[in-house]
Amino acid sequence: MRQNLNLCLLLWATWATAQPVVLKTSTILDGKGQVLKNKSIVIEGGRIVRISEAKEKVTYDLSGLTVMPGWIDTHVHFAVHFDANNRVEAGGAGSKETPERSALYAAAGAYATLMGGFTTVQSLGAEVDGGVRDLINSGQIPGPNVITSLRAIYRDTGTPEQIRAFVRKAKADGADVIKLFATASIRDGGAQTMSDEQIRAACGEASMLGLRSAAHAHASSGAKAAVLAGCTSIEHGALLDNEALQLIANRGVYLDPNFLVWHNYLENKPKFLGIGNYTEEGFSFMEKAIPQMADVLKRAMKLNAKMVLGTDAVAGSHGRNAEEFVYRVRDAGQPPMDAIISGTSLAAESLRLGDKIGSILPNMAADIVAVDGDPLKDITAVRRVVFVMKNGKVYKNVAH
Ligand SMILES: [Zn+2]
Repeated sequence: MRQNLNLCLLLWATWATAQPVVLKTSTILDGKGQVLKNKSIVIEGGRIVRISEAKEKVTYDLSGLTVMPGWIDTHVHFAVHFDANNRVEAGGAGSKETPERSALYAAAGAYATLMGGFTTVQSLGAEVDGGVRDLINSGQIPGPNVITSLRAIYRDTGTPEQIRAFVRKAKADGADVIKLFATASIRDGGAQTMSDEQIRAACGEASMLGLRSAAHAHASSGAKAAVLAGCTSIEHGALLDNEALQLIANRGVYLDPNFLVWHNYLENKPKFLGIGNYTEEGFSFMEKAIPQMADVLKRAMKLNAKMVLGTDAVAGSHGRNAEEFVYRVRDAGQPPMDAIISGTSLAAESLRLGDKIGSILPNMAADIVAVDGDPLKDITAVRRVVFVMKNGKVYKNVAH
């Protein structure tokens, strides 16, 4: 009898965990450019197993909403935050803040990002990212999937040989991607800073180790050197000329233009001004960079460059990453569907995760976001995230 009871409990437990989760939907944007009407998404074991006619027993009713793959932000800094005095703080070496407090802010930044509809982010990057990533992956704290460079390479990182050693150490320490500053910050004018040899060392070593490499580059010379060195993405690119864009497009390198970052700096100017290169001159460079970036984006679209969606989110932006979709459409004239593909399947492909995330298809991770409204008609619908699921687990559900 006792044995039978145990068997029954075991069978019940197996049946209960094997029960699929069914999302009833009226509109799905699948992340690859298709619109699916009146389908159910059937999920088992954290993965999408099928998209079916809406007849199955419903777990969550998302009809009336627009359902998309969980969004992907290819460029964030969730560790950068406003401190208790409302000033920007990045934590890490040289910080006045305790490491414990900085780590909590980083976890808070990651959580806000997930609640804003982003189920995967690439952080370019801070040492604390590794710990946050590991705790999120083991289910101990809530947040998006995190991919991180942990640190970055600059002109003064050293000789090409020292840069190669830096890349090997970053990989050994758990970096998922290599980040390099091929040019200066836009606040310092954006000219090439690393030599072509240094850039070749960084991206060449990364590629030998099977790692992607993301090159911060505004000036065309730095971007071209990065593409020719085998770097896999160009971050920002506010000053790119057509020759650089054509090279990016021809080589299939991903371009990661960002708008939110500068809008956010300008909106929160007093919280940054007076720290490092956040000078009046730096702010005027950023103001100019917004229309320059929009112009680059328009030219990049004509050349069919592969543009992913990244925000360069820092303090003030975490949780508002979706504003990047709005800037793309409103300021740069990108069609809404293209902007959404940019932040889903294309971003996934750029992270070499195109077979796991970024689209609503069988075998993909059940990373799902739903918004109130139709972003194809009004892109600001992306501000109204009402449902967030990651790997089949619901983190937000305020859908009615
Ligand atoms: Zn950045």
